[in-house]
Amino acid sequence: MDVIIIGAGIGGLTLGLALHRAGIACRIYEASPAITPVGVGINLLPHATRELAALDLEAPLARVGVTTAEACFFNRFGQLIYREALGRAAGYASPQFSIHRGDLQRVLAEAFAARAGIDRLLTGWRCIGFSQEPDRATVHFEHAKSGEPLPPQHGTVAIGCDGIHSVVRKQLHPHEGEPLYSGYNMWRGLTRWPPFLSGASMVRAGWLATGKMVIYPIRNDIDDEGRQLVNWVAEIETPWHQARNWNRPGRLGDFLGAFKDWRFDWLDVPAMIGAAEMILEFPMVDQEPLPRWSFGRVTLLGDAAHPMVPRGSNGAGQAILDARALTDCLSAVRDNPVAALRAYQERRLEAAANVVRANRTNPPDAILREVYLRSGDRPFDDIDQLISRRELAAISDNYKRVAGYDREALARSR
Ligand SMILES: Cc1cc2nc3c(=O)[nH]c(=O)nc-3n(C[C@H](O)[C@H](O)[C@H](O)COP(=O)(O)OP(=O)(O)OC[C@H]3O[C@@H](n4cnc5c(N)ncnc54)[C@H](O)[C@@H]3O)c2cc1C
Repeated sequence: MDVIIIGAGIGGLTLGLALHRAGIACRIYEASPAITPVGVGINLLPHATRELAALDLEAPLARVGVTTAEACFFNRFGQLIYREALGRAAGYASPQFSIHRGDLQRVLAEAFAARAGIDRLLTGWRCIGFSQEPDRATVHFEHAKSGEPLPPQHGTVAIGCDGIHSVVRKQLHPHEGEPLYSGYNMWRGLTRWPPFLSGASMVRAGWLATGKMVIYPIRNDIDDEGRQLVNWVAEIETPWHQARNWNRPGRLGDFLGAFKDWRFDWLDVPAMIGAAEMILEFPMVDQEPLPRWSFGRVTLLGDAAHPMVPRGSNGAGQAILDARALTDCLSAVRDNPVAALRAYQERRLEAAANVVRANRTNPPDAILREVYLRSGDRPFDDIDQLISRRELAAISDNYKRVAGYDREALARSR
């Protein structure tokens, strides 16, 4: 068995590490000329960190990321709505990490190169399509910079881990429509800032209609003053949007107005976003769940299979769960890779589609929506009069069940 992995993002690299651990040969082909730190923050929830711990990656991730301790939900007046412990602090066997996407990708890439060999991670190879013969898959590439054709690569199976603009997905589903815009635009940024709240808190505040923020630290102790690198995302209902591009620069003036009064005793939000060292703009989009990922010897994984709006901290996590499932299936039926890819689809397609749908309707920030609606977007005197603790916990717990990180269910599964 020789697996061709297209894309060295979070899903492709985790798959490479998991296959290597299972004794299955693989090669990863990445379009970027080098693995460089792009993106901003990502959260890894306990279902995903459990898989990474099984690949001996918990310690290196803990060194570069922040071990998240709690989630805090506030209204746009800075009033606390709900607080819950996260990761180990909530009794999980594995932690939650808030981490720079680039740090996560580097830890995965270095581990893969050290274990499988640097010659199995090829950069500057852009996939342009694939073909299949009865006994193998062939993937076609061009040189990412020059556009010169590169030699076709043959494998037992080929896995499209090529992200939200997946070429493999487009070939498998040529008539799929454009990405679906949610009606919310996002401005994402990084700021060097002193620790706030517990120093390991993930904050969601406000609501999309008037402006919502997600804020959490992703690197500790970045200077002599003990500041952290803080990741923040402003999400605002906006009728227009640009095409999705992970690296499009954003302008402070386009969204700062929505947060100008957000000066709270726990954080001065306009000062923090005003001090950003970088701002990116990105529309909140997803795609309708696909009816099928596996076609003979080719399948999809991660964002290529199930792009989702980032409202549940699950994009990277679901890609990591895919990698584990695909490795299990390929290990179980080594002599029938087509059946293995079918079994993988069986195990993951509907589960991931449910997360795509839940992220649209009832992700954890539905807590903010409920309070926004019930309070008429006004400050409250007593949160318990507006909504009970039990109801708030139920919103959060329901999402955990759908996304696969309900604590008890996770403890029971292997
Ligand atoms: C540049 C970038 C920045 C991001 N920033 C954030 C962020 O700040 N926060 C967040 O939550 N999520 C971010 N994401 C998305 C996040 O990484 C994914 O949602 C999630 O981790 C799922 O991982 P994935 O492996 O499916 O996709 P990705 O991590 O997106 O990986 C896909 C990989 O495939 C490569 N690729 C694409 N096309 C081809 C091709 N034709 N041939 C070969 N290789 C190809 C890409 O360069 C990339 O390395 C970012 C993704 C990218 C690519």
